[in-house]
Amino acid sequence: MTTIRLVQGDITQESADAIVNAANSSLLGGGGVDGAIHRRGGPAILEECRALRASRYGKGLPTGQAVATTAGDLNARWVIHTVGPVYSEQEDRSALLASCYRESLRVADELGARTVAFPAVSAGIYGWPMDDAARIAVETVRATETEVEEVTFVLFDERAYEAFAAQLR
Ligand code: ADP
Repeated sequence: MTTIRLVQGDITQESADAIVNAANSSLLGGGGVDGAIHRRGGPAILEECRALRASRYGKGLPTGQAVATTAGDLNARWVIHTVGPVYSEQEDRSALLASCYRESLRVADELGARTVAFPAVSAGIYGWPMDDAARIAVETVRATETEVEEVTFVLFDERAYEAFAAQLR
């Protein structure tokens, strides 16, 4: 059984074994959580991301997939980068968002991570409505078989925290 915890705050301050980055497919940094992780984690993360681009992911990391790097100067041991889908009203992309959580937990299992912290993937710059993003996140973590003992959702503001709390009630 995986325990689910919620905290309001900044994911770069978490001391889980692995923290998940809502990356973009370039893996070369961006705004939101991605920018904060690279800023606080230092250049070692970007160096490994560049190496991944030069080897396995020449065209970038596909949406819905996940890959790990060092966490550099962060408290965590690893950063798991996942690329959420951009929200669309025309097309249902929820399977891709669910895949981000499932694949991140799969990578966590490969690493041997027992505690993992997630942000609200896709619910920032990528425009996903927070309530729906929270539902998909919680449902997917609950439905995924994993050795991860504790998943912490780290929500940046109160609105996000409340959306996740509603899903756990
Ligand atoms: P995406 O491009 O996948 O939408 P964002 O980083 O823009 O990713 O946003 C995802 C969520 O993470 C948003 O709810 C945003 O408010 C939140 N967020 C931004 N910075 C941080 C941070 N340092 N720690 C935790 N959550 C954050």
